[in-house]
This record gives sequence, structure tokens and C-alpha cells, in this order.
Amino acid sequence: GFRPASRIASVGVSKILQIGAKAALMKREGLPVIILGAGEPDFDTPDHIKQAAKAAIDAGETKYTALDGSPALKQAISAKFARENGVDYAVDEITVGTGAKQILFNAFMATIDAGDEVIIPTPYWTSYSDIVEVCGGTSVLVPCSAEAGFRLQAEQLEKAITSKTRWVLLNSPSNPSGAAYSAADYQPLIEVLLRHPHVWLMVDDMYEHIIYDGFDFVTPAALEPRLKSRTLTINGVSKAYAMTGWRIGYAGGPKALIKAMAVIQSQATSCPCSVSQAAAITALNGPQDFLKDRQESFKRRRDLVVSRLNAITGLDCRTPEGAFYTFSGCAGVLNKVTPKGKTLLSDADFTDYLLEEAHVAVVPGSAFGLSPFFRISYATSEAELIQALDRIEKACADLK
Ligand code: PLP
Repeated sequence: GFRPASRIASVGVSKILQIGAKAALMKREGLPVIILGAGEPDFDTPDHIKQAAKAAIDAGETKYTALDGSPALKQAISAKFARENGVDYAVDEITVGTGAKQILFNAFMATIDAGDEVIIPTPYWTSYSDIVEVCGGTSVLVPCSAEAGFRLQAEQLEKAITSKTRWVLLNSPSNPSGAAYSAADYQPLIEVLLRHPHVWLMVDDMYEHIIYDGFDFVTPAALEPRLKSRTLTINGVSKAYAMTGWRIGYAGGPKALIKAMAVIQSQATSCPCSVSQAAAITALNGPQDFLKDRQESFKRRRDLVVSRLNAITGLDCRTPEGAFYTFSGCAGVLNKVTPKGKTLLSDADFTDYLLEEAHVAVVPGSAFGLSPFFRISYATSEAELIQALDRIEKACADLK
């Protein structure tokens, strides 16, 4: 029979995908399920970006490209880092992969030996620890409370560092919490890292362009030049430009690391898709004004969801600085009883109840390493959000 490798023994199919599958099945059976689980913008890829891809096909850009990104795309990324982040990465300090997910995979695969530790604040995007496990490393999860803004604190970082720590992985704005680190939030963490030269910093800036209320986005490599030589700055076009399906992610980092990552990529995918690279060049070099309109639209939805959630007894939602998720506390509904007589003992019980009785699919905090919470993705229409929140409100009112 089939025997899977031990490296995937502890890596299951994510809870997010399981809920998505169950919700999709219910929908096929004719139930009016609203899915607030998707991690992608509901907007379409802008037209000028699509046109660039069509032109690339017609121009015959249909062959293998340079291993970790075409020179033109690396140039566009270098210009992006300088223009938007105030950080200088030369083209040989830049790598392009098949989504930021492959960048993460390349980086861990290229640097982690058995027993090496990666510090990951929770709540976190669970792929982080799953990729670390697949690469033979150990994830050191550090819970960050809502009171601390779901942000890692300097004392926590100091305590989590051991001689085996290889990386600290920070994500701002965060999936699932939407929390972001300001320069002042980063500073104490940077000071800790400067005292521990063996620890490298990986930052995932994927949601950089989905940020609200004038929040001043910063990336650590720009804040502290002394840390730049051991920082990998990850970003991508998936969320900002509504290009999840094109599969282009990238990173800037020290040359030696970038070269090591290319070794992994060369044996996995050879290069990112040529046509998608052409589209990404246009995304980065082209007009950026539509980002603002989309941001406005996301902000209206965020405000709607946060205010509706906070008006519901038992729920408590912090206002996120960015991304398109709310991560709401649900301690106040635990130990209550559903109309069918089931006692809600955990956030997963609550989200099961919402799916089965209110036909709203959301993801429990346990899937992101912090309970009792649940995540809503508000990358969907306001009409659908209002309907979903009406149902959540009624479901909570029905609890005894
Ligand atoms: N980083 C974070 C925090 C994400 O939420 C996601 C997607 O959900 C990614 C990275 C992956 O992005 P990509 O589509 O570039 O692989």
C-alpha cells in the first residue's frame, strides 16, 4: 500500500481548506451558504496587466526564463523596493518564484537543517509552520494576544531565541489578524535581533498595499541597515494586484541566500511562468492609482464588519490596520447552548454552528494557532457581507 514520507506526517490538509470543501458541498446541495473564507481579493486583475500578458504571448515570450526571474522583472522589483520601501536591493539580491509561497519554501529548504528553529508569532498563516515542518525544522509558536495588538513583543522574542534559532518570521499586515507593525512596533524587536547575530529575519509584506487610516507601512530592512544583511523581505503581486492565479512572488535579501534559494528552485520549477512574469512587470511599473480605490472599498467593508461584529453580544473585534481579514474574539459565546442543544466549547464549535445553522463559513482561531477567535475574510461584496452578518447576529442571539 501507499506509505507517505515521514516529513509530511505532521502536516495535514489545512482546516481552512476542509471548511471550504464542506461549505462548497453544502452549496452544491442547494443550501444558501456564504463563504467568508477566501484569502484572495474579489476584484479582477486590472486590464492593463492582462493586456501585457497577451502581448507577451504574441511576442513569443513562451520559453523558460532566467532561473529566478527575468532581468526585466528583477529590475522592476528593485525599482519597487527603492520607490515604495526606501530599500536598495540590486538585481542579484532579488529572487522571483511561483508565488510568495514558493519563496518561503525555497528560503526554508535552503537554510534549515534538522532541529533548526523558526520563531513564528501566532495567530499566523499556518502554511508557515507547515513549510518549516516539511523542511525538517521546528516551529516555535509564540502567542500574541489581542491586547498586544496581536504583535510580538520584545521580551517574548528574547525568551524564544535559543542557540538553534535560525529565523524569526514576521507578517505585517497579518493574515489572519490584519495587525500591522509600525516603525515604533518594529524597533524593540530590531534591538533584540541586533543582540543575536545568528538569528535571521524573514518578513512577509504580502499585504503591504492593503492598509487603512493612513497607517505608515514600513519594512525592517529599510529601518535598520545593520539587519539588512540577514533579512529576507518577501512580497508579491497576488493580493495588491489581484493576481493570485498568476503565481508570482518575490523577495530581496543578501546575495548568498538568494543564490542558495535558486538552487532549490532550479530543481523544483526551473523558473516562474514567463507570461506571468511579463504581467508582473507591468503591475509593478504601470499605474498604481487603482490601488487607492480598491483600498477605499476594502476599508468600507472593514468598517462595516468590525462595527457589526462589535454590536453582537459575545463577540469582540479589534480594528485591523490592514489586509482583508477580521480576527474577532468569541470568548463570550463559549459555554452557551445552541437551539439544537449543543454546548459550544471551542471556537471550532462556534464556527461549525455558524456553518451548519447560519450557513456562513468562517475559520476558527484554532486554525491559526490562537483561540478563541474566528477569522472573516471580507474580500466579498458589501451586500453579501451584510447578509452574512445578519445571520451571524441571529445565530448568536439564538444561543442560550
Ligand atoms: N503570505 C501570506 C500572509 C498570505 O496570506 C498568502 C496567501 O494567502 C501568501 C503569502 C501567499 O501568496 P502567493 O499567492 O504569492 O503564494
